[in-house]
Amino acid sequence: ECLRAIETQNPIINAFLSVDTEGALAQAKRIDEAAAAGSARGALAGVPIGIKDVLTVEGMPATAGSKILEGYRPPYTATAVRKLIDAGAVILGKINCDEFAMGSSNENSAYGPVRNPHDTDRVPGGSSGGSAAAVAAGMAVATLGTDTGGSIRQPASFCGVVGVLPTYGRVSRYGLIAFASSLDRVGPFAVSVHDAALVLGTIAGYDPLDATSSLRPVPDYTEGIDKGVAGMRLGVPSEYFGKGLDPEVQSAVESTIERLRAAGAEIVPISLPHTRYAVPTYYVIATAEASSNLARFDGVRYGYRAPEAKTLAEMYRLSREGGFGAEVKRRILLGTYVLSAGYYDAYYKKAQQVRRLLTDDFLAAFKNVDAILTPTAPTPAFKIGEKADDPMAMYLADIYTVTASLAGICGISVPCGNSHEGLPIGLQILGNHFAESTVFRVAQAVE
Ligand code: GLN
Repeated sequence: ECLRAIETQNPIINAFLSVDTEGALAQAKRIDEAAAAGSARGALAGVPIGIKDVLTVEGMPATAGSKILEGYRPPYTATAVRKLIDAGAVILGKINCDEFAMGSSNENSAYGPVRNPHDTDRVPGGSSGGSAAAVAAGMAVATLGTDTGGSIRQPASFCGVVGVLPTYGRVSRYGLIAFASSLDRVGPFAVSVHDAALVLGTIAGYDPLDATSSLRPVPDYTEGIDKGVAGMRLGVPSEYFGKGLDPEVQSAVESTIERLRAAGAEIVPISLPHTRYAVPTYYVIATAEASSNLARFDGVRYGYRAPEAKTLAEMYRLSREGGFGAEVKRRILLGTYVLSAGYYDAYYKKAQQVRRLLTDDFLAAFKNVDAILTPTAPTPAFKIGEKADDPMAMYLADIYTVTASLAGICGISVPCGNSHEGLPIGLQILGNHFAESTVFRVAQAVE
């Protein structure tokens, strides 16, 4: 059914960049036969899943949405994907995204924009726009995406699906093509909270191949998911309901909060006072790390090499000039600048200090509340092209998501209503470090 949906929908939506029809059918058959022979079925036996093209899968291309990785075939599989396969999942193929996961609209892919299945003139969000759109269009039962500053939660919100940001360290980053290593996280998209909990439980856990992965045991995230919110304290931060918030988003989120109150939650007004520094802090740290991570794409290894280069220096320069898109170049320039001698203290070091303050805001709040409720994004999905020439407007699409990214805490975006045009609206639920179970429980009550 998913392969059929890909055949009919993908030419319009452009979510999948490569589809492994034969491999998927063969894996499905293997699982069927194993089940018929009476062997134990994995938690995701036969579940068709798509993978954002920043994660490696042996034998499949990995472009990261960039021309510079054209033709590259990674010789290994990302740990998160490996765990899906071990649980019996069927890997359908690789999914379009913003180049190196930089963007909020999926318009930065070298392989064309992804379209929102709810309105094909609109963006699906980004950078994991293809992963959200694929689930929304029935092309996959679940997908993996990555979230560095909002790239799972914001597209989930725009496409009307569930998207999870796990705590930093909860899911291995091994096999993830790095954007900003201290912020990058791998997480699932699904049609329901329960499905998302099941997929996260499968991909989470310690990995000796990722030094930042946590040793904490992984709980069963589906356990207690239906317990409801009675007696829970849910914080609502005033800073997330100010200027720039679309009135329809505000009213959908507020009526959902009222629903949770009626279900027995205590709604607690809170303040996260450093919120207004989050976007500039994020764009200093993320670009600094990106400029360093992307230094490896030099035309020597991996995909694209400028054919016209005559000297070594020319090969570096022309391969990077021709291989990277405009947004990636902008970030390499910004990141190199904030790390340069003379500016390091003023920008990068300062940003690290503010990151601490933003984290402390959350840690203080979680002494008083179990979870925090906010809009996921300030608006529903915008039109393709609407913000494409205005990086500042595009960066502001992340205003409610970059805070949790900087703090390393977990969160989810869950559908909570529609605009008058029928565009989905998402509620963001944030939890403390490793409080995924709490977040799932609140999300389940919203669903
Ligand atoms: N939109 C943000 C950015 O462009 C977040 C991207 C992400 O989370 N990968 O950096």
